[in-house]
Amino acid sequence: MDRLRPRGIWSEFVSYPQTGIVLEKFSLGVGDRFAHQAKPQLAACARAAEKGVVVVPVWNKSNREHKIVGSEPSSTRAAADAAVGALGWKHSYYVDADHINLDTVDRFVPASDFFTLDVAHAIGHAPGAGAAESFVHRHPELVGRIDIPGIPEPLEVTPEQTCASAHKYLFAVSEAGRIYRHIADRKQPGHFITEVSMDETDFPQTPSELLLILAAIADEGIPIQTIAPKFTGRFNKGVDYVGDVEQFEKEFASDLAVIAHAIAHYGLPGNLKLSVHSGSDKFSIYAPIRRSLRRFDAGVHVKTAGTTWLEELIGLSEAGPEGLAMAKQIYASALDHLEDLCAPYAAVIDIDPARLPSAAEVAGWTAEQYSGALRHDQRNPLFDPHVRQLLHVGYKIAAGMGDRYTDMLVACEESISRNVTQNLYDRHIEPLFLRS
Ligand SMILES: [Zn+2]
Repeated sequence: MDRLRPRGIWSEFVSYPQTGIVLEKFSLGVGDRFAHQAKPQLAACARAAEKGVVVVPVWNKSNREHKIVGSEPSSTRAAADAAVGALGWKHSYYVDADHINLDTVDRFVPASDFFTLDVAHAIGHAPGAGAAESFVHRHPELVGRIDIPGIPEPLEVTPEQTCASAHKYLFAVSEAGRIYRHIADRKQPGHFITEVSMDETDFPQTPSELLLILAAIADEGIPIQTIAPKFTGRFNKGVDYVGDVEQFEKEFASDLAVIAHAIAHYGLPGNLKLSVHSGSDKFSIYAPIRRSLRRFDAGVHVKTAGTTWLEELIGLSEAGPEGLAMAKQIYASALDHLEDLCAPYAAVIDIDPARLPSAAEVAGWTAEQYSGALRHDQRNPLFDPHVRQLLHVGYKIAAGMGDRYTDMLVACEESISRNVTQNLYDRHIEPLFLRS
């Protein structure tokens, strides 16, 4: 059983800052494109806390979103701080520099205390000469039969497979190391949370690949608290999971087992957990996630992306004629700019343009029709996933309206806040963390 004992590498060469920010067991990534909904988002977490379950909010916004909206990371921080002050939130909260790399990280450094190091693009790049071979030499425990508590069948990995995985992932992990050290040089180590993400790639990582990645991350000295692998199935933006739910549950549970194993064997932070980049609204896998978390007594970070912006539109449509008119105008304009808006998100949306209602048709809709088409209630016959996905990527249109849009958000605050809080609590927090 020697191969199952911790390797000496971590303890010999790396001193991991044990004091510092420790991300809580349950955390929820929330997006707030126009930085107007932090308060009603936080209110959803407060509702869970009142029921005895602490789910800490992490405001995430990627460089892509900041560029499209024309905002700065400091605005996310300011909105989060203000919401926490207004509601008297006593627990932690964080601001996530989502999907950053060496080219984009710098402007996030002052305002963020959570960094998602995106190295998916580096997967498959050849590591330095001999790096894969010496890694495999250092890690004989990653070859052969690997017994992991919680996984029914031991992993069986041939030396060739381990070597191939090392070739595939080591460069990406070393890239994560470079980004981590870049941040640690500018912010005190231990004063920020590190996530490594590999989700924006074509193929899911197997449990044995995840184990190898975590071993490599430990070697690299990254105090990783969350890891975002690519899971099996499609995670389109703003709509439900598409894929084999049973297979997902099996892989998700295996990943939890691998993480517990990696913590024990490589000295990674004890609170290391999975981060699910859900793209929001993966309702059909919430029950499998909840069951698996309870089975392993594990934590999770779930990023819900920017669907709060859709609740703004729903809130506008329900707030009265002026709000409804603006919501319709945004749809018409989004339809006009369909290709432009979809291009940056092509890999994560599935819109059939032929099934989108015309602007004239939508112009005749009642508030009930508009909110019914957009709100993610699959039992409502009015729900239209094509409209929802188009509007999800259509926030550039609202950004282009400038103050006219944000002034309307303020004017319709009551209606919007109600929708934002209900959506986050009823459709996400409750089924993920509270339901028995
Ligand atoms: Zn992601």
